[in-house]
Amino acid sequence: MNSTDATAGLTVWAEIDLDAFEDNVRTLRARAPHSQLMAVVKADGYGHGLLPVARAAVRAGADWLGVAQPTEAFALRDAGVTTRILTWLSVPGTDFAGAVRRDIDVSASAPWTLDAIAGAARSEGRSARVHLKVDTGLGRGGAFGTDWPTLVEHARRLESEGAISVVGIWTHFAMADAPEHPTVLAQQDTFFEAVATAERAGVRPEVRHLANSAATLVHPAAHADLVRPGIAMYGLSPVPEVADDFGLRPVMTLRARLALVKRWPAGRGISYGHVYAPEVDTVVGLVPAGYADGVPRSATNVAPVQVGARRTTIAGRVCMDQFVVDLGPDSAAAAGDVVTLFGKPSEGPTAQDWADATETISYEIVTRIGARVPRLWSGGAEAGAGA
Ligand SMILES: *Cc1c(COP(=O)(O)O)cnc(C)c1O
Repeated sequence: MNSTDATAGLTVWAEIDLDAFEDNVRTLRARAPHSQLMAVVKADGYGHGLLPVARAAVRAGADWLGVAQPTEAFALRDAGVTTRILTWLSVPGTDFAGAVRRDIDVSASAPWTLDAIAGAARSEGRSARVHLKVDTGLGRGGAFGTDWPTLVEHARRLESEGAISVVGIWTHFAMADAPEHPTVLAQQDTFFEAVATAERAGVRPEVRHLANSAATLVHPAAHADLVRPGIAMYGLSPVPEVADDFGLRPVMTLRARLALVKRWPAGRGISYGHVYAPEVDTVVGLVPAGYADGVPRSATNVAPVQVGARRTTIAGRVCMDQFVVDLGPDSAAAAGDVVTLFGKPSEGPTAQDWADATETISYEIVTRIGARVPRLWSGGAEAGAGA
């Protein structure tokens, strides 16, 4: 992108490379050529912008969109997205009528959910499309153990009344990111047994699905009818300890502009708590991005940043709106110079480097980028599009 124009006057911003995103979606499709692909765009597209990434995913061939919360699904439909959508979280009181009305597929892990969905479908005068979720060992959502045949029987009763149609059966892995872990095969076996149980009861699902990014990339046996990648579409590896980058390209680059550059004496503390002090007289730069923008406070003194040719580390506490970097005694940096916090490996640190430095996963680094950070989309058909 032509960053000089679009970023003039911005303190901190996130550049979103939709061409890289579309390439990543195509890479994932090629990995699972016999399965449909559901692009997971929950949590504002992992912080990259719900609508731009949803539209880019569809352009790159995604057959479905997946989101956690019903309101995310409503936002997609209400913006004119016609692709099939699955939303999988609900609580008593969830607006299932809104989902049915908008042709959004919903998920159920318990009979009460099916009853609420069926009630909404009757009031809307149409059948609801439901994916039954089985807990094959994640220990989170889904019907576990003997709750599964109970859920299936309940669904069959509502299906025979015409209130719902079971279109999917699905589950989620606990450790797909540990390619050799025995739980992966065990969950897969349990899943296909659960599918068989449902089919014996008369369920005829269109799609059976269990693969997240890690399983899409490294467990072909789990591809089934549909894969549900998230993080890999955003160009970040779900299995960072595996050297292979799978040909994925990071989509988000977080940048800021130095707000102040000044000389600073050896031994004087920097930022709240004075937890950093330079050993020699130096030059420091003020970066106008803080934990309100999603820069983790745990990045204090550990996370890498790139200023011109210099790779340095955050100096002192990350504050709400700003942090400081030590640019070195000979720095010629000036206010206005661009700082790259993370992005593509060719340009500076990566989100994975930030995750390693702060003892988290790259998912959290990109997803937590704050609402006040402008996203600048480039590539695809979205260049210059607003939020
Ligand atoms: C978030 C999520 C995904 C995508 O997971 P990644 O690890 O980002 O690929 C898939 N399925 C479900 C149910 C999810 O919640």
